Amino acid sequence: KDLASRHGIPQLSTGDMLRAAVKAGTEIGKKAKAVMEAGGLVSDEIIVQIIEKTITENPGSNGFLFDGFPRTLPQSQALDELLRELDTEVSGLVMLEVPDEEITRRILLRGQSSGRPDDLDEAVIRKRIDVYNAETAQVFDYYHQKGKSHKVHGVGSVEEIFQRLCTTIDSFQNG
Ligand code: AMP
Repeated sequence: KDLASRHGIPQLSTGDMLRAAVKAGTEIGKKAKAVMEAGGLVSDEIIVQIIEKTITENPGSNGFLFDGFPRTLPQSQALDELLRELDTEVSGLVMLEVPDEEITRRILLRGQSSGRPDDLDEAVIRKRIDVYNAETAQVFDYYHQKGKSHKVHGVGSVEEIFQRLCTTIDSFQNG
């Protein structure tokens, strides 16, 4: 949220959008609920649909901070295609590197206040890490081949990590 406000652009979190859809009981929410609770990935079709809608509804925006998206290769390809049609492109991808034990500890801690069932169950957290390794890690490689991927050390205070992120994002060529 701090990054989005620093750059004056909206933060588009597909997780937040899906949780809102579940809460509102929309068709998308009904389809996504069980998958999210189990720590799996919602279908690329649904994700691309909600991202496309949000981008086209904000034509004047000076950019977007995508959070938790793209999470698969097809989502990355769909995003690139969508942006190409709008005569723009991804500026860069940032991967926060945090050891599995640390991320598990943080998620469990967040679960005490987030009200997210997927943050409270250690087996679901493990599943999310497995899904990340199987499906999402390759998104880093996909943008790395385009010279757009960046790693940021994700252990430290919030302020320290925020500063590292700012330095990295400021280095984006067309950012
Ligand atoms: P997050 O808030 O990013 O941790 O996302 C919570 C859950 O929503 C994930 O575990 C997935 O089930 C689903 N989700 C969020 N973003 C995506 C995405 N880009 N692709 C597929 N599923 C997603």
